[in-house]
Amino acid sequence: MGDEDCEERERNKLGRCCTAPWCKVRYGTNGETSFFRIPTDPERCRKWIDYVNRPELAYHSPEHLHNNFRLCAYHFRDADYVSVGNHARLKKTAVPSVPPPADWTRKSVAHQQVSKPQPKGFDRGLEPEQILGVTNASGEMMFLIQWKGAEEADFVKASECNVRYPQMVISFYQKRLVFEY
Ligand SMILES: [Zn+2]
Repeated sequence: MGDEDCEERERNKLGRCCTAPWCKVRYGTNGETSFFRIPTDPERCRKWIDYVNRPELAYHSPEHLHNNFRLCAYHFRDADYVSVGNHARLKKTAVPSVPPPADWTRKSVAHQQVSKPQPKGFDRGLEPEQILGVTNASGEMMFLIQWKGAEEADFVKASECNVRYPQMVISFYQKRLVFEY
């Protein structure tokens, strides 16, 4: 999460910004744009949260969301409105459906990959369970390690492993020892 996300969340808390993370419309600065509170009906509330793709909001009660979060008119289609006198109102069943800009998802996925590098090897802070294999494809001898309590195995430098877990290295080689007579 970058500073921009935090800043945006702050503004959302104050109810001054549209809840859709890709939308920069702010409440009160543009009198022509209508804002709609998140509905208190749990089913519809969930659909709105799904739409804005912010699962963290699902931890709040619909009442809290209703009081603190709004979506602007740009996220609804003509069919979502009914005319009441001079102004348009959202239908009771309306769910936002106008898709985000095509480049928005890509940007945000790329952003997550940059900001959350996954630790590798011993940096994961896990206990090795056993050595699954050995390779020197990279020019340096590496062990493929299965970790306790983790699904994903990965490579560590054999030189490092020899020092830290010599017993595991020895038993790996012993299992593979073939006697030739
Ligand atoms: Zn908006």
